[in-house]
Amino acid sequence: MASRNEEVLREAFMTKRSQNKSPFTPTNWKDRWFVLTPHNLIYYDGDRNSGRKREKGRVDLSKVWAVESVEYSAFQKDLVFQLVYGSTADTESVTLYIAASSAHDHDDWLEHIRSLVGNNTNLAEVFHKGALLRNQWSCCRGPKDAVACTPVTWTRNNNATPDQPSPSPPLNQDNMLPVPGVRTAFGPYRKKIVVAIYDYNPTEIGDLPLRKNEEYEVLQDAEENWWRMRNRNGEEGYAPSNYVKEKASLGLQQYDWYLGDATRQRAEFILKREEKEGCFVVRNSTTTTGMYTLSVYSKQPTPQVKHYHIKREGDLYYLSQSIKCRTIPDLIFKHKYNPGGLCTRLRSPPTHGRQPPTTAGISHDKWEIDPNELNLLEELGSGQFGVVRHGKLKCMDVAVKMMKEGTMSEEAFIEEAKVMTQLQHTNLVQLYGVCSRHRPIYIVTEYLRYGSLLLYLRQKEKHLITCSEQLLDMCLQVCEGMAYLEKQRFIHRDLAARNCLVGSQGVIKVGDFGLARYVVDDEYAGSGGAKFPIKWAAPEVLNYMRFSSKSDVWAFGVLMWEVFTCGRMPYGKLRNAEVVDRVQSGQVLERPTYCPETVYELMKLCWTHDVDRRPSFADMRCQIVEIQEA
Ligand code: ADP
Ligand code: MG
Repeated sequence: MASRNEEVLREAFMTKRSQNKSPFTPTNWKDRWFVLTPHNLIYYDGDRNSGRKREKGRVDLSKVWAVESVEYSAFQKDLVFQLVYGSTADTESVTLYIAASSAHDHDDWLEHIRSLVGNNTNLAEVFHKGALLRNQWSCCRGPKDAVACTPVTWTRNNNATPDQPSPSPPLNQDNMLPVPGVRTAFGPYRKKIVVAIYDYNPTEIGDLPLRKNEEYEVLQDAEENWWRMRNRNGEEGYAPSNYVKEKASLGLQQYDWYLGDATRQRAEFILKREEKEGCFVVRNSTTTTGMYTLSVYSKQPTPQVKHYHIKREGDLYYLSQSIKCRTIPDLIFKHKYNPGGLCTRLRSPPTHGRQPPTTAGISHDKWEIDPNELNLLEELGSGQFGVVRHGKLKCMDVAVKMMKEGTMSEEAFIEEAKVMTQLQHTNLVQLYGVCSRHRPIYIVTEYLRYGSLLLYLRQKEKHLITCSEQLLDMCLQVCEGMAYLEKQRFIHRDLAARNCLVGSQGVIKVGDFGLARYVVDDEYAGSGGAKFPIKWAAPEVLNYMRFSSKSDVWAFGVLMWEVFTCGRMPYGKLRNAEVVDRVQSGQVLERPTYCPETVYELMKLCWTHDVDRRPSFADMRCQIVEIQEA
């Protein structure tokens, strides 16, 4: 199993002072690639051009007893910090001097290392802010064994309780930018520091913009989707929680080549579009949690994307027996110089890889949108409830559903919209809010450029009908969105290809969830009505109007059938009454011509009459993934 021990928390080129055995040789500084893991600070040789090569040394963080800045005069050098470590504080200590490349890095590494050594029992109270040069400390002029002269600026705060953190001295080096008003203790009472993994540009005044890779302190995280945060300049505001990751568990999120939960198909889609030799991504394995898959594009011998499971052996990751590394970034790095059994050596991640997710609504606690902020553009289509138009909310693309008056019970819907804006998933059309103060009311959602899945399938039939892998991936995406709704105990009630939408990068999203409850049209409301989606309805819905996530699963089976026929009408021209008879008598839709038998078996599972034996979306997801990986 993955040991958290070697998880890479930070890595960067910095220069390190050589630890001269003789105190009289001039100090010299070397470029090193530093890697910080929860238990070690490891450094490798190599320069900025040739990269990392061999491990040159490591500091066991449990032995560290001071982490401090070094005064400029010691080396006539800015941004130097020191790690003092060793078995006993005074006699056998060693000092590692590191010069960071920027004030931010200096601050960042100092802070991060401190957060890791906070529980060490041997933390010192004094240190030398200078360096030992020619057998004399530059700070106090004392001899080599002189008692350290300067009180530490940071130590673990043993007496702090969560209610009453005792104040600790601020980080006061000249080259650091302390954040106004932020505690600087990193003892048992720790503040929550997060790192932005995407840029975020708020639409609401007062919300906090986020810049990728910058750090923020979380001031309030009581709600799931919007957290109050503070940036380094002391500015505060709400920002979406899915745009940041806790610093201590940042993992691979900071790397542009990491695609998280993207499916095999998505990875292929992105890499094929870039068409660059050696373009690669790493994503979570769809079959084994905690494992990863590398996907690489190569033109040789023919253009293709290859997928490799990253294997583990004890503490080591590897793709081929010849190259084994402690961390995935290390392994990626090695394979940039040596294909080591891969179809090509790794070059760069895609330029249009990871897309920022949607936010749950446009701001914290806000679902009412001022129509004056909406700039309405072209018409996208029309349906059940009226016209849908493309629009801009500030600079964000949105779709605006203008609800025909009298088609829905508006008050009830507006109430529910508050809840619905909080549903957030890659495979759900995001509800941003409503304009409910005038009539007709507008429903403002995420905009998806390729429109309805049903029309998309029909238009691309020639190309898609034989691409069963791509079609199955569409089903998987819908299934992922539905598995999320199922987990949130939210019933869709009208799942069908017409209610799914297609976005860029081949993404499919489920829309119109829960809306069916607010339709006032009699034709639609009951199972006898002409507009009721009989062909997607489970037997228990036809018989007792009993909706559940399991009745959504039945509809999902029909949607899979729509996908694999590229948008045919289920049961052709059969009238509703005849469809009901068929379903009740246990007849199911026929296998679409190009649909693999294994996939058809899954559709039939969805059409299990006994609700208790019908699989859940979570079950369906596993089954689809199993077919994909076969
Ligand atoms: P229906 O009642 O058929 O589900 P809708 O009112 O949901 O109709 O949508 C009508 C049409 O508007 C869709 O077929 C689609 O082409 C377009 N559309 C709806 N929502 C969006 C959106 N979020 N982004 C892009 N196009 C959309
Ligand atoms: Mg719809």
